[in-house]
Amino acid sequence: MRLVAVAVPVPFLDLLTYNVPDRLELPSIGARVRVPVGSRTLTGCVIEQGASLDTGTDAKDVVEVLDSEPFLPATVVVLARWVAEYYVAGVGDAIAVAMPPGAARRASSHKTRRIVSLTAHGLSAGRLKPAPTYDHSPSEVGAGFSRPLTTRQQSALEILAATPAGLPMSDLRERGVTTDVVSRLVKHGLATIRDEADERDPFERAALSTVDADPDRQLTSEQVAALETLSARADAAEFRVALLHGVTGSGKTEIYLRLADRVCKTGRQVLVMVPEIALTPSVAALFRAAFGARVAIQHSALSDGERHDQWQRIRRGDIDIVVGTRSAVFAPLPRVGLIIVDEEHDTSYKQEESPRYHGRDVAIVRASLEGALVVLGSATPSLESFQNASSGKYDLVSLERRVLDRPMAAVRLVNMREEYATEGPDVVISRELSTAIDERLTRQEQVLVLLNRRGYSTAVFCRQCGDTYECPNCSVSLTVHRARNGWRAQCHYCNYSTNVPKSCRKCAAPYLEQTGFGTEKVEQHLRDRFPAARIGRVDRDSVRRKGALTSLLSKFAAGELDLLVGTQMIAKGHDFPRVTLVGVISADVGLGLADFRAGERTFQLLTQVAGRAGRGERKGEAIVQTLYPEHYSIQLACRQDYAAFFEREFAYRKGMRYPPLVALINIVVRGKSLGDAMHAGADLVRRLDGAIGQSGMMTLGPAPAPPQCRRSHPRR
Ligand code: ADP
Ligand code: ZN
Repeated sequence: MRLVAVAVPVPFLDLLTYNVPDRLELPSIGARVRVPVGSRTLTGCVIEQGASLDTGTDAKDVVEVLDSEPFLPATVVVLARWVAEYYVAGVGDAIAVAMPPGAARRASSHKTRRIVSLTAHGLSAGRLKPAPTYDHSPSEVGAGFSRPLTTRQQSALEILAATPAGLPMSDLRERGVTTDVVSRLVKHGLATIRDEADERDPFERAALSTVDADPDRQLTSEQVAALETLSARADAAEFRVALLHGVTGSGKTEIYLRLADRVCKTGRQVLVMVPEIALTPSVAALFRAAFGARVAIQHSALSDGERHDQWQRIRRGDIDIVVGTRSAVFAPLPRVGLIIVDEEHDTSYKQEESPRYHGRDVAIVRASLEGALVVLGSATPSLESFQNASSGKYDLVSLERRVLDRPMAAVRLVNMREEYATEGPDVVISRELSTAIDERLTRQEQVLVLLNRRGYSTAVFCRQCGDTYECPNCSVSLTVHRARNGWRAQCHYCNYSTNVPKSCRKCAAPYLEQTGFGTEKVEQHLRDRFPAARIGRVDRDSVRRKGALTSLLSKFAAGELDLLVGTQMIAKGHDFPRVTLVGVISADVGLGLADFRAGERTFQLLTQVAGRAGRGERKGEAIVQTLYPEHYSIQLACRQDYAAFFEREFAYRKGMRYPPLVALINIVVRGKSLGDAMHAGADLVRRLDGAIGQSGMMTLGPAPAPPQCRRSHPRR
């Protein structure tokens, strides 16, 4: 028997063993096969082959072998297996992340698109203009055919007649022509459909206007030193991790570009990982400017077609550099020599659904498989990475100064308790911040305003009867959003939402009170206070539409907006040289979260956002509003003193037995009620305690999950 172990896309399923019948050639590891699973036939990926496989049960036959060459490179197969094992996920789930969209559906490796064009009949019919009176009645045109055409068929005919070479079905759909109408035309012999290979270029709509990579630019002495160290590591062509700890604006990107160039010249490829989809266009544009067409993008917001095409180009070896988010770590590059993980501390590298991998850590595993260099870049490294660098496990390369001797932004703290005492409890923007914004607007400089909380207000209640709006699923206060006609209250954990009526739903009192504030209210206050300013808002609500984020950021970059208010989406990585002031509305938003990393997150966010100011020729300033001006995360972020923060936070983690000194495993138990779940949790802890014995491991809990883990009700 010829046996293969196959990963199939069924959650939590382990590898399945199949027999390859004699009529089929033996598929290689990484090839796709069609196999029976229960009553279905699914597309899976061959992970293992050979005699060592378990023959205990009688294996079913492989139905079809889709690839004569490996579809996934061997390294990626090994990597996906590691992910499944380490993060306790099904192999099929892990393999699915490594596959391009549609890989399970199509045998052909080429994405095609359907092109509709008119036949000779159709062309002559389409060029006849309909009588001017025709409205919703069937048109006169096409009268020579068995049945008159409907208005919709007629207008489809006209659209097609204007482009005799044909139009993609997707374009037609955008212009209101349904597939149904098209198939009618085909039936009438008026149109035909053909499939055409389609390679789309996501860069066309991706480029931001701030590209300024300059290959002849004089590097700072710190950059030169860093590049020397890293180049030597890259040349050695063996596995190594380096932490590039460089303050904001120290020119890390320039180092990435030159290092990438060096590695590409040796015939190996480069993977560049960024934490957010929003950052890929500008980073990719920089690499494109330097390396031309041999740069590809991989992230989940590309259309399936775009992602598929780019994936195929990478797989064929047409690509030297891949820029993407965490899933790009599985890009099918044949020989990776360098992996750059930019903003390595960022939580977006962690995938919160199965397989729950950490993109940075998987990158390190991939580099170890490929004998590649990993460069982790950050102004605020994670405690884990800095600890590894301090202990010598990683190389530490530091950039302590900004380029061109630009000073770090000066940071001022505003104690909001004092502000409330003199100005009342409804203050959102302090006098100090307001004055500073005013000055910038007068000087035609730009301002970023950060509040890491979206929505208008954080709660709504009736003053008369005390009725509050809580989520029925999550028991948390609903956030109020301004809707087209009135207010909507929404749960930020499970998306439950409901209208907020004008009067109380319980006692009919005519006035409902709102408290707390989010980005929408900050925007409102800014518009009231600075009516002449051009203001944009960036948060998950304002950028829901595809392309909205890129469009807002490019507008700001082009100087068409004076002020950008937003959540942490505006704090990361962007380089806007005309920003001279950053205002933080409340530094305290993250501190109250039930997360042992709350202090670290706050430090990172404040340091990053302050780092957005003063990146051009003019000096930058940050104004940070807080209720806890004495908190060490806030104090040390203001001084931008990473070393002091690391020491302080590390001591706290040590005292509490938290990572990076130990590893934590979080087990979430779900039940019909809190009681049920707690009960099952307690039972689990008892059994674990019995199992771990004297191994040095420890259990904590059970404790009620914070709301973000409670998504017990499926999304509607
Ligand atoms: P970081 O990622 O470290 O915060 P960037 O790489 O974005 O910093 O660099 C900040 C700015 O400085 C960018 O506009 C970049 O083009 C510019 N820059 C980088 N290196 C130099 C240099 N050697 N001389 C002048 N400008 C530089
Ligand atoms: Zn909810």
